[in-house]
Amino acid sequence: MPTATPDREAPPTVARWQRELADAIRDPVELCRVLGLDPALAVAGGRAAESFPLLVPRSFAARMRVGDPSDPLLLQVLPQATENSPTAGYSADPLDEAASLAAPGLVRKYAGRGLLLVTGGCAVNCRYCFRREFPYAASGATRRGVAEGLAAIAADESLTEVILSGGDPLLVDDGFLADLVSRLDAIPHLRRLRIHTRLPVVLPTRVTAGLVDVLRSSRLARVIVLHANHAAELDESVGDAIRGLAAAPAIVLNQAVLLAGVNDSADVLRALSERLVELGVVPYYLHLLDRVRGAAHFDVPEPLAIELHRQLRDSLPGYAVPRLVREVPGEPAKVWMA
Ligand SMILES: *Cc1c(COP(=O)(O)O)cnc(C)c1O
Ligand code: SF4
Repeated sequence: MPTATPDREAPPTVARWQRELADAIRDPVELCRVLGLDPALAVAGGRAAESFPLLVPRSFAARMRVGDPSDPLLLQVLPQATENSPTAGYSADPLDEAASLAAPGLVRKYAGRGLLLVTGGCAVNCRYCFRREFPYAASGATRRGVAEGLAAIAADESLTEVILSGGDPLLVDDGFLADLVSRLDAIPHLRRLRIHTRLPVVLPTRVTAGLVDVLRSSRLARVIVLHANHAAELDESVGDAIRGLAAAPAIVLNQAVLLAGVNDSADVLRALSERLVELGVVPYYLHLLDRVRGAAHFDVPEPLAIELHRQLRDSLPGYAVPRLVREVPGEPAKVWMA
């Protein structure tokens, strides 16, 4: 980021997306007010909001339907009282990621792929997130952790791909990312750079010309995996962001999580796939919920998931049908359900 000389007339040196993030909604009562909803809805989730706070950029909230407490985007972010009820089979670290940390900041569980935890932060807090209780600071998702993760990647010639993950790795600024990418470029055994991010969807102004330049500058093949769960998330501003990424060029994929009340119908899933393809994105994965404490109310029973997936296969071109998968701790890859 350019550093301006101090001058009262100087334009702010923070990027627009950073200002939007600083101005994101963090108070459930305010979100309800913005959406014309009864503030009692916000109060009900009070305790859940204390342990995993609400966070939603205003531009994402603007895609929610005013006056609709069942809006599928709202349900993804609004703390609910039910999050505090313990449910058998739901735990703090359902994927046992703590066991896969090969070095601070590096998760080493997929063959040939190293997952670098770049930052613990996100631009939105998704209530179903399996990392909602992940101890980022202790796991090395810090600048020093990234440096140690890079050293571990350089020392492991079996790795051909680095996955930048988090949190949301695009939360770091363009300068940090440029430095990281040039260090990855210098590791001879790497061939691909993958970025798992929800930012182009929840805060599309993050896709700056500078970010696209960083991607373009890399010698590595680029793969961006977005995360959208409902077609209503994908407005024209997201379309612009996706076109920017694709122009880098990069392969752009999407992963979604199957969520009760949000997208557990064949019509909603079909609309999501069709919208993604319209924007040039390949629907890659449809995840069954990871059983993280506080998210049990989102669970879709496996037989229903398989039936919904069958309906997608029956009605969409093959490239528009995501793979239905589940993460199983200890497995070297995702388990394909269908
Ligand atoms: C599944 C997954 C991976 C590995 O993905 P593949 O596409 O199966 O290589 C990496 N990071 C996260 C967060 C995942 O969920
Ligand atoms: S953006 Fe991704 S990592 Fe962040 S809270 Fe949502 S699901 Fe979790």
